[in-house]
Amino acid sequence: MNGTEKAAGGGRRILVKGGWIVAYDGSEHRILKDGVVLIEGDSIRHVGRSYDGKTDAVIDASRDLVIPGLINTHVHLGSQAGDRMVLDAGRRDLFRSGFLNHWPAKGIRGPNLFAFEDLEASLRYSFASLAKFGSTTIVEMGGEFGEDPAGLARLAGELGVRLYTTPGFASASHYYDQGGRHHRHWEEAAGEAGLDKAIGFAERHDGSEGGLVRAILVPYEFWTCTPELMKRAKRAADKLKIPMTFHVAESVIEFHDTVLQRGATPIGALADWGVLGANTILGHCLYTGGHSQVAYPFRDDLRLIAEAGASVAHCPAVFSRRGVALESFERYREAGINMSIGTDSYPQDILDELKYGAVVCKVTDHNHEAGKARDLFNAATLGGAKALGRADLGRIAPGAKADLVILDFDRLRIGPFLDPIKALVHCGNGELVKQVIVNGRTIVENGRIPGWDERELVAKIRASTDRAWGHFAEFHMKAEPIDVAYPAAFRPWAG
Ligand SMILES: [Zn+2]
Repeated sequence: MNGTEKAAGGGRRILVKGGWIVAYDGSEHRILKDGVVLIEGDSIRHVGRSYDGKTDAVIDASRDLVIPGLINTHVHLGSQAGDRMVLDAGRRDLFRSGFLNHWPAKGIRGPNLFAFEDLEASLRYSFASLAKFGSTTIVEMGGEFGEDPAGLARLAGELGVRLYTTPGFASASHYYDQGGRHHRHWEEAAGEAGLDKAIGFAERHDGSEGGLVRAILVPYEFWTCTPELMKRAKRAADKLKIPMTFHVAESVIEFHDTVLQRGATPIGALADWGVLGANTILGHCLYTGGHSQVAYPFRDDLRLIAEAGASVAHCPAVFSRRGVALESFERYREAGINMSIGTDSYPQDILDELKYGAVVCKVTDHNHEAGKARDLFNAATLGGAKALGRADLGRIAPGAKADLVILDFDRLRIGPFLDPIKALVHCGNGELVKQVIVNGRTIVENGRIPGWDERELVAKIRASTDRAWGHFAEFHMKAEPIDVAYPAAFRPWAG
């Protein structure tokens, strides 16, 4: 520490001395070896080899990698009981889709597994994981508000992360009939009312919690929204000057149903409706023309997305667990699409996603030069910032917001390396995170969140999911208990 008094001018000055700093030169990231970053208040003031002016505090990161705060463009903060269950099993008639196994209700407006979860425990657990593993900006997919919509914004403020959110809405909900067949139940008025509610929330909360909370409109899914609702949501987003995001091209079933019913691919339909734009983030966007699983070789979709300037939120971990891959990160990028990264459901470790994204891309393309560490890292920083229209995020540069992640590189896990970014992507994960700074405030220190008890978070979320899983048979068409539908890796010890 160089003393505790405030420097003259715009707030407390903190000097970060970094071993390796991913610094932005105005057009791209560069590696600044043994450099400094000066934070003043909520912003970065100086980046360079040295700084000789007065400071209030010094952070010694001389053996560490200092990177911009990571921007996570697709997160489900609640619903821990769902995806964690769907492993190595699930319905074969859903063509490897994940959420359709656990999300739909049994009968129209029927019971749903998630009713038994402890929402507060779920939100705190996710927020803590996201921050601890390096996500400093989070786009929530609209589902986790409960009775107190503003509660989510307050939690983001308490923790100190950036959150994009409004309550999600849709014209239809998924359900299964008595025979176990999947349907969508349409209630168009509910979708319209949901959009009204989201607009009201956006008007009240955009910029709240000291600017950490921002609004984004979230019609849950292309497949469960009418064209009218999607068009109205896009007009509202344009008018409010906020982004919008939704799930699209997520399942083979959705792709084929759309081509059959609308004579267009999901992306083609969105383009026809005028919903694609620079403020549109396409969640997942896996099944586009030309994907090997859709038997539809006509490849206009990527051009349509690129021409509109829309972004994709790529979440490789959750899909690769079910044998599903984007085809491919490289092909989308080369088509000129702005790629960003999301963690979807679990683990909320965006650094893990970079590794999955790079490796899955190399395998799908049969190309060792595809899925470069550089391009995945760019997607989680500059790509996410562009998707949200934020030139002040995703970069370490004077004038940008002071969102930094400091990673412990003095570890066996990293070992020797030629290049810190390739080492981070292929050897690293969120457990390397030592310190996270958002808006100039440290929210993770020595790998811990001050004031948040990790053991307590884990105990509470385990109690919550155990309770939900205990009700599993009530939602299963054949009333199977969870250990029959999703057998454990090994049988319990006999006797
Ligand atoms: Zn999602």
